[in-house]
Amino acid sequence: MERSIADEAESYLRGLLEEWAVPQPGECIACYLDRAIEGSGCDGDLRFAERYRDLVAPRATALLARLESAGGYCDCEVLVNAMQPAWHLWSTSREIEVDGRTIVLEAEPPESMPPCLGVRRGSTQPCRNWHRMIRRGRW
Ligand SMILES: [Zn+2]
Ligand SMILES: [Zn+2]
Repeated sequence: MERSIADEAESYLRGLLEEWAVPQPGECIACYLDRAIEGSGCDGDLRFAERYRDLVAPRATALLARLESAGGYCDCEVLVNAMQPAWHLWSTSREIEVDGRTIVLEAEPPESMPPCLGVRRGSTQPCRNWHRMIRRGRW
């Protein structure tokens, strides 16, 4: 199909404006969702997960159902219920002394995720920056 230069320029510009909108080459679904939610917020549905599937893993027809069965009913819930930052990225819990009392600081997830470690094309697995939550034996 012929595309005019104007069309090319427009889609190029749109790509720059919405860098979060499409998965990068080799980027895993979790890192993509993390960036997309950062970029535009969660709309209460699985639109980014669906886009990832359409663009990267069109044969993963069961993906959305699998995410839902893991408790990921919208894009942000996927990163809470279905996949979470890998433990090695969390701060460690520690005890501090305040006024002679011991306070336990709970481990916290990272404020921002490191760059995606990459997955094989067509994979719907998260990269090693994430681990899958086991729920109902499906994941
Ligand atoms: Zn959400
Ligand atoms: Zn990743």
